Amino acid sequence: MKTTLIFATNNQNKVTEIRAVIGNQFEIITLKEAGIDIDIPEPHDTLEANASEKSQTIHGLTTKNCFSEDTGLEVASLNGEPGVKSARYAGDDRDFQQNIDKLLFNLQGNTNRKAQFRTVVSLILDNQEYLFEGICEGQISENQNGNQGFGYDPVFIPDGATKSFAEMNMDEKNKYSHRKKAVAKLINFLSEQTS
Ligand code: IMP
Repeated sequence: MKTTLIFATNNQNKVTEIRAVIGNQFEIITLKEAGIDIDIPEPHDTLEANASEKSQTIHGLTTKNCFSEDTGLEVASLNGEPGVKSARYAGDDRDFQQNIDKLLFNLQGNTNRKAQFRTVVSLILDNQEYLFEGICEGQISENQNGNQGFGYDPVFIPDGATKSFAEMNMDEKNKYSHRKKAVAKLINFLSEQTS
């Protein structure tokens, strides 16, 4: 029987990206499909603790197998900022454009544009929690380009590419993506557990 997991997120972009990676090996149920309507808190100062909070919250409500992920953009010359605060970098509105504007402003005139996306996945399987990490290194561009994807995609060029994540379709993004790498580890783990 296929393993079914609730994905503890309200971000439809993340659901689409992860479903494309997982294919039909496992069944992913969104919070909406599970009939859960909550805004899961992200109160902690690490991606690990926030990912854990999200999966533990959903597991507490449902007792079902589930997973969550938390992602941050870590910029070298900004001491790892916005990092765990990526969603609210420019304020509580979580506005993608305002976040990008603030990032480009803070990097004005700075030639060190090195950055990485880091994703932490928290899986709760049979009441046990497991963490998986995925990192994508790259550069923050001077200007924004492209209109696909979400968040900081228009200003992030992954190492090995010549265009931003927002200029790539989902399959191209998934060749480099932090989220894809973390989810690949999750899939390997689940495959070992269920074989
Ligand atoms: P979250 O807290 O994991 O939902 O994500 C924090 C923020 O990081 C999001 O609001 C986005 O702005 C940004 N983010 C997360 N993943 C990506 C991505 O794959 N591309 C661009 N931005 C992302």
